[in-house]
Amino acid sequence: MQNLAERRTAAVTSAAGRRLLDDEQPLCGIIDLDAVTEQVGHLHEAFAGATSALHTVAVKAGPLTALLKLLVDAGMGCEVASKGELALAVEAGCPPERIVFDSPAKTHAEIAAVLAQGVSMNIDNFGELARVDAALGGASPRGRIGLRINPQSGAGAIDALSTATRTSKFGVGIGDPSMRDAVLDAYITRPWLTQIHVHSGSQGVALSQAAHGVAAAVAVANEVNATVGRRQVKRIDVGGGLPVNFHSDEVTPTYREYRQILEAAAPELFDGTYELVTEFGRSLLAKSGTLLSRVEYVKDAGGSRIAITHAGVQVAVRTVFNPGDWPLRILTHDPDGRPKTTPVVPQDIAGPACFAGDVLALGRPLEQLEPGDIIAVPDTGAYYFSNHFSYNALPRPAVYGYRISGRGACTWFTLRDAQRVEEIVYDAGHPAPVPMSEHPEQGGA
Ligand SMILES: *Cc1c(COP(=O)(O)O)cnc(C)c1O
Repeated sequence: MQNLAERRTAAVTSAAGRRLLDDEQPLCGIIDLDAVTEQVGHLHEAFAGATSALHTVAVKAGPLTALLKLLVDAGMGCEVASKGELALAVEAGCPPERIVFDSPAKTHAEIAAVLAQGVSMNIDNFGELARVDAALGGASPRGRIGLRINPQSGAGAIDALSTATRTSKFGVGIGDPSMRDAVLDAYITRPWLTQIHVHSGSQGVALSQAAHGVAAAVAVANEVNATVGRRQVKRIDVGGGLPVNFHSDEVTPTYREYRQILEAAAPELFDGTYELVTEFGRSLLAKSGTLLSRVEYVKDAGGSRIAITHAGVQVAVRTVFNPGDWPLRILTHDPDGRPKTTPVVPQDIAGPACFAGDVLALGRPLEQLEPGDIIAVPDTGAYYFSNHFSYNALPRPAVYGYRISGRGACTWFTLRDAQRVEEIVYDAGHPAPVPMSEHPEQGGA
């Protein structure tokens, strides 16, 4: 089979041949479905030997039902953090015992729904623990319930994505001795707390640092079990957070490398002491997805050459607002989808939104673009075109899946239709202010 980059090039050529991009839809996302399944395979292989490992996909990385269904059919569970994500997991056919509900802000209703459905849940803080106590009313939960700890193992290169700083909003910080005692006490007094959760990795966090956080969670589990004299904590949820290489087509780091580092830091994860849950998002999906946009105009301003495209902040919000942390490659294709071979000149790749900062790349050396050319933005399969930002009422683009046969033929699937203008108008609210009821307890309009 061809490699990821060869398949992507074949798909761009096929997309151009099928006129997937036109005036109506000059932008779309495409996903290499075989690459997604391959990555699931790599994850399962890398963690082989762990006792009944449950691998979940972090739904926020790719909230597209058909994509989630593919993942669920390939044996994955779903990590969700809202009512909406829970509904998507259910819609994708994920059985409740393969769903893990994480959110730092669970409402009473969410806690009740999760307990009723038998979904696994990780409690974020002691206030939430008290609510779960009350909701259970002495009964035992059907799903596995854990407590999220913050190992306070330190920040990574990207502040906004560092979950394990001393002051992170997530979990119970166990660096403080009194907190550690409180966590141990919470477990010892609640036999139904049988899981422990940590999500200490992310883009910009070294594997060793993430593994250090996981080892801290395992140490708490060991201490609980030693104290109560039995295997009360049965399962460790190690979270996700494997970083992705956005600079080339090389997949690095790999799940295999992470497993080795995890195993060295916490051998109990793989020697049968504990069951295991993972919650990868970015590393599972990023490399399979590509944004495609037509180049609408090309112009010069103040000595800069600017290509105006349809790929901007609405599909690449992190890159546009924080390009230093979230660089994306740009690949150039002619209107027939063939890789361009024109001379390389510095170019700005601008999006369609009405603010000056809406650019994916500034002064990037690229083959000289012309109107009608196609840019491909690889590595956008996680957190990009699936997470829309509705600035300027720009529509959510269509997302297509593809598979390339051994002979190089491309088969296409629709995962999501482009948002229609009528839907944009609907989402913009009521046509006129609707008077609210004088009696809010009876429900307003
Ligand atoms: C976002 C998130 C994940 C997935 O993180 P990636 O970096 O995409 O692998 C997993 N678990 C939790 C609790 C998260 O918030």
